[in-house]
Amino acid sequence: MGKLDLNTGIEFIKGVGPMRAELLQQELGIFSVSDLIHTYPFRYVDKTEITLIKDIIEDGQHVQCYIEIIRIEKIKGKRQARLSVMSKDASGFIELMWFKGVSWILRYLKEGAKYLAYGKVSIFKGKKTIVHPELERIDNQNTAKQKVSLSPVYSSTEKLNARKLDSKAQSKIITQAFADIPAKSIPETLPTYLREKLRIPDKSTALKNIHTPKSTEDLQQAKKRLKFEEIFYMQLRLLYNKEMRKRKLISFPFEIVGDFFNSFYNDKLEFELTNAQKRVLKEIRRDLLLNTQMNRLLQGDVGSGKTIVAVMSMLLALDNGYQACLMAPTEILAQQHYLGISEICEGLGIQIAFLSGSIKGKKRKEILKQLQDGEIHILIGTHALIEPTVQFKKLGLAVIDEQHRFGVMQRYKLWKKNEDHPPHILVMTATPIPRTLALTLYGDLDVSVIDEMPPGRKEIKTIHRRETHRAQVIEFMHKEIEKGRQIYIVFPLIEESETLDLNNLMSGYDDLRIYFPPPKFKIAVVHGKMKPQDKEMEMRRFASNKAQIMVATTVIEVGVNVPNASVMIIENTERFGLSQLHQLRGRVGRGGEQSYCVLMTGVKLSKEGKKRVETMVETNDGFKIAEVDLKMRGPGNIEGTQQSGTVQFNLFNIVADNAMVEPTRNIAIKILESDPELTHPENKILKDELMRQLHRHQDLGRVS
Ligand code: ADP
Ligand code: MG
Repeated sequence: MGKLDLNTGIEFIKGVGPMRAELLQQELGIFSVSDLIHTYPFRYVDKTEITLIKDIIEDGQHVQCYIEIIRIEKIKGKRQARLSVMSKDASGFIELMWFKGVSWILRYLKEGAKYLAYGKVSIFKGKKTIVHPELERIDNQNTAKQKVSLSPVYSSTEKLNARKLDSKAQSKIITQAFADIPAKSIPETLPTYLREKLRIPDKSTALKNIHTPKSTEDLQQAKKRLKFEEIFYMQLRLLYNKEMRKRKLISFPFEIVGDFFNSFYNDKLEFELTNAQKRVLKEIRRDLLLNTQMNRLLQGDVGSGKTIVAVMSMLLALDNGYQACLMAPTEILAQQHYLGISEICEGLGIQIAFLSGSIKGKKRKEILKQLQDGEIHILIGTHALIEPTVQFKKLGLAVIDEQHRFGVMQRYKLWKKNEDHPPHILVMTATPIPRTLALTLYGDLDVSVIDEMPPGRKEIKTIHRRETHRAQVIEFMHKEIEKGRQIYIVFPLIEESETLDLNNLMSGYDDLRIYFPPPKFKIAVVHGKMKPQDKEMEMRRFASNKAQIMVATTVIEVGVNVPNASVMIIENTERFGLSQLHQLRGRVGRGGEQSYCVLMTGVKLSKEGKKRVETMVETNDGFKIAEVDLKMRGPGNIEGTQQSGTVQFNLFNIVADNAMVEPTRNIAIKILESDPELTHPENKILKDELMRQLHRHQDLGRVS
């Protein structure tokens, strides 16, 4: 033993060879011994836990039964044969079914033989069935019990199964790999003092035990150690980056609170800022006074008043002789910011310009020139702002609205707008993120939260209506329009079927025209296939109250502000995600009137669809909704997490293991507080591993 190390190719493991190695590479991406031992089982079968068939009562339950096959029946289907295998134990009967790989599995089955069958049971009219169970032939129940109690199950594919590289074969290869490498060739990645404090096993033991646990206790310890390591290094990376950035990235202090800020505050601001807005402004102001770059995330639910905070921060930049810019994810939103901000800043002597892809030719040239000359103080626009031709004289602050809509690289380009120092950065998001997730996604940013709504807002009433109640909904719409209110009707949009959705929307529009005929009623339409100018025109028709109803696809989701619109009707609610629904609902409730959100669904709803509707009806709290969303869909599907690349854990699960995040982060904070550069000898292991990981993650985490 002992001639391999972690970097050796798997073909050199005894009994693997080039052919099987190639298959494992192709199918599972396993190249080296290290890849192999870091590919953990996704499940373990507890051979000691056997359910009697009569005790299976729950549909969807996963069970393991010790069965005997009574009858094997191959049933011819239209396209493919299926296999029905009736079996029994001492207590009852259960059917096993296969729709795929029938001829392959047939070879393994024998009437009268005994097996352990594992799988998900479905119960229909009292009849119990397992589709595609895992089977293991065992002719004596006692031998089953005497074997290792927890056997690992690895992901496999049809191709691997067909070439005899199924879960069991993989398990053998891994056991062989451990026998072939000396224990000390698996480097320890956590210092002894940490392991002792947390009472977790060393790396080599943990890795061995995650593959071949001798007991549940061993397995739990191994998992604890490996999970800790994943979340710990992620936090260490974030914190370390944050610290380094603070030291390295010199920016410019904004020391002056001058005329722009003061006249705006004293003369233009029509309302009292909420306490939350004041607090956040203070936090921003404190950052801007330092000569290190600000990197702040501003979270606040829809309608909480983030824009004003952004405007006042930009005025601080202006007071100190710098320019500012605001980048929004869509043309409509950018336009609306441009119009709104121009309006509230009128008379202050500030030059504000708008830039997007649709501004071309002479006009564009002029804007770019004025920007370079410093004549333009504030530039508002879409991602057109990051193009290299857009050059500022002195950019002091860049605000990014709805930051989750932008990719990391786009944000990075804003950083680079100045030759010498990066501008201060304020990113805003209305997608509330549960705290534990925020810590993993944005752990290297400073976070401010606006957790208070401007006063006088009435809570939006959310109602669920089924298709069968359409007539009442129409009547309700008529009443609201009579009161002078305006109404949004939103249709879902799914990219793969854009034409279908458009048909859906247009036929919805035609139906509406019957109930709301012209000329008395006017209906605006906005959808993704329209030209920007046309969208713009329709938006304006609605915003200026020339149309009472706006029919739209989700393009209105983000940021649109029409305070007189107080009814939001969402069609096919079941096709929207929770956070999207919450964003849409946030389009109403912006004025002083009672607002409503009507969630239309079909008569039948899936379990998840029902849960989403119920959650929306129950609460207006974006953070609560985000928690439910996270639990229902898992972190990979939460907006903003996909491109972040930071939530890719092997074992750690941000939902199930969320209680580990904060304590682990605190451990990392403590270590860095006492040894910021990790130069103590006892932290050498940490430093080495951290550097290795930072290198692997290419340091994109640096970008907010
Ligand atoms: P969001 O956080 O969703 O971007 P906005 O900044 O668009 O919210 O603000 C929503 C509305 O609330 C705007 O019409 C804005 O003028 C108004 N608003 C913001 N702050 C206050 C406040 N302190 N008091 C009253 N109204 C406010
Ligand atoms: Mg906004």
